[in-house]
Amino acid sequence: MYLIKSPLLLKWYYPSLLWNKSRTEKVIYLTFDDGPIPNVTDFVLKTLKVFNAKATFFCIGDNIVKHPEVFERVKADGHAIGNHTFNHLKGWKTDDETYLKNTLKCQELTQTNLFRPPYGRIKKSQIKSLRSEVRSLKSDAQLQTENSKLQIVMWDVLSGDFDINLSPEKCYQNVIKHTENGSIIVFHDSLKAFDRLAHALPKVLAYFTEKGFTFATL
Ligand SMILES: [Zn+2]
Repeated sequence: MYLIKSPLLLKWYYPSLLWNKSRTEKVIYLTFDDGPIPNVTDFVLKTLKVFNAKATFFCIGDNIVKHPEVFERVKADGHAIGNHTFNHLKGWKTDDETYLKNTLKCQELTQTNLFRPPYGRIKKSQIKSLRSEVRSLKSDAQLQTENSKLQIVMWDVLSGDFDINLSPEKCYQNVIKHTENGSIIVFHDSLKAFDRLAHALPKVLAYFTEKGFTFATL
């Protein structure tokens, strides 16, 4: 069971996480989790380019190691990179030390201030230790010149593209129905999601471009 739109209660319980951006501007934040994967990620890159759209890719460290050339293409196209742990760990079922180590292993590859917990599931103790660890890895100069705080990114619209029982058209409708100014939308550049992604992504981009929205990195 999953919810397409993130409920207010969850946002209230985890106020330090990022759920959506400014509601006053016509900007949408597309995110792609679980890549990089050959062909699938390349399809996403090609499609984004057609609409002059930028996005954020929450990569699994293990996939970066397996497909470094795809990872380089994502970066070369000017998209943002996020950390999604090295082995796609479930926070609620993993002890804090293992979770931290696995995430830092991915951090070596991604070098980013953006982190998304797999399945959106993370303990408050894990949030705390991750934030202080990532901060401690930075040099004094970095701490002064950039926003050194780790941003933990959730979402407000889940496309449901990972759901093999969902029709591609329903996946598209999910996004159209729930997206508003500043929405952070989740897609997956994975083999499992591809049927729905390939149908919904170009249509979502066309629909909101027509309505005057732009697509930016987080
Ligand atoms: Zn994931």
